[in-house]
Amino acid sequence: MSERPKAPRGTFDVLPEQAALRAQVEAVARGTLEAAGYRRIETPAFEQTDVFQRAVGESTDIVQKEMYTFEDGGGRSLTLRPEITAPIVRAYLEHGMHKLPQPVKLWYLSSCFRYERAQAGRYRQFWQIGAEALGSDDPAVDAESILLLHTILGDLGVAGVRLRLASLGSHESRARYRELLTAHLRAHEDRLSDEVRERIDLNPLRAFDSDHPATREVMASAPLLIEHLGAEDLDHFAAVREMLDAAQVPYEVDGTLVRGLDYYTRTVFEFTSDALGAQSGVGGGGRYDGLAEQFGGAPTPGMGWAAGIERILLAAEHLAAREPVCDLYVALADGTAAARIAGFALAAHARRAGVATQLELGGRSLKGQFKQADRCGAAFVAILGSEGIELKDMQSGEQQALESASAVISYVLRGRHADA
Ligand code: ATP
Ligand code: MG
Repeated sequence: MSERPKAPRGTFDVLPEQAALRAQVEAVARGTLEAAGYRRIETPAFEQTDVFQRAVGESTDIVQKEMYTFEDGGGRSLTLRPEITAPIVRAYLEHGMHKLPQPVKLWYLSSCFRYERAQAGRYRQFWQIGAEALGSDDPAVDAESILLLHTILGDLGVAGVRLRLASLGSHESRARYRELLTAHLRAHEDRLSDEVRERIDLNPLRAFDSDHPATREVMASAPLLIEHLGAEDLDHFAAVREMLDAAQVPYEVDGTLVRGLDYYTRTVFEFTSDALGAQSGVGGGGRYDGLAEQFGGAPTPGMGWAAGIERILLAAEHLAAREPVCDLYVALADGTAAARIAGFALAAHARRAGVATQLELGGRSLKGQFKQADRCGAAFVAILGSEGIELKDMQSGEQQALESASAVISYVLRGRHADA
């Protein structure tokens, strides 16, 4: 006997109850983002591999070990999107969105793919909600973007939220700082973990993310980028903080915050939740003023974030699945062909009139059909038999004979409006 197939490791099926919770996360995010003028965008599930190599960076974990890269039948190297900022910048350039009023504000909800060690809150296919604003370097864009995610997490009741904030400055100040940090790491090379030591030249900033005890000690006395920013970057960062203060968004400035993607400049931030274990990052992002140029576009500042739906669901307290509404259940008193067709026609007309209708499909006894109608939370049950149509109000228990399908429909519609 052959083994039954299972969903691949690190992936999961979104079953109806989970889908209902996700729909609520989506509704809250959509409401907040669209009210602020963000419009939805959808990019392909895969891109030319180059898009991520150039944007996310060759030295990052994502590009080095997490990408699902494959060659298609035409010999092109393609990669399932591990993140969606780079595709959006690619799309902005490809569609000439610089001609639109700036900034162009876009949001998305799509799946991402990363080959990672699967565990709670960490999957190989997961979903991100994100927002990107392209074409303005105004610090108000940064503050507004952060505030939007703060609002969404708050409205969803994500527990124990903390916001860490930092600035990575411009590419120039980062390059100068990199030399200082590299010198510090070299001076303490013997105490560093192998992984950090091997990446001193490639990506010294990632040393701040290490959980190796001796490395952490070395990093405790490391110079911080935030102390080596240029005057303009400092002003920009101060303006972002002032606006967050004015909007009463609590945060902590954390000079050790390093994001795992190379494209960031200036503002970076991360929301974590104390309700989550090791996988505490709920969402994060930052500014990426050099990314469009890396794709050969004109200089285009950008700012955005992404938040993981699965981690939101793990940490959200206010979410309860909404039951689907059922206005009318069409039951059959007998199994005659005439009753079955009359029932089918009634359901079709009722749905056209906007009545949420379910039809008996299980061949149940009349008693079984009432049980099923109850499970569906039906407000009314229409019973079709050789005698005609009876309509039962499930709340009052009253039952009456009605002469036609249209009488049933108008009665149910009236009852529903009286209820609302
Ligand atoms: P982590 O540090 O947990 O690996 P990250 O820094 O790689 O996160 P980002 O690239 O910033 O994460 O992605 C934004 C958000 O997407 C994260 O805050 C998290 O909520 C979610 N996320 C990232 N990777 C995964 C994954 N493998 N499974 C589920 N959610 C994820
Ligand atoms: Mg990661």
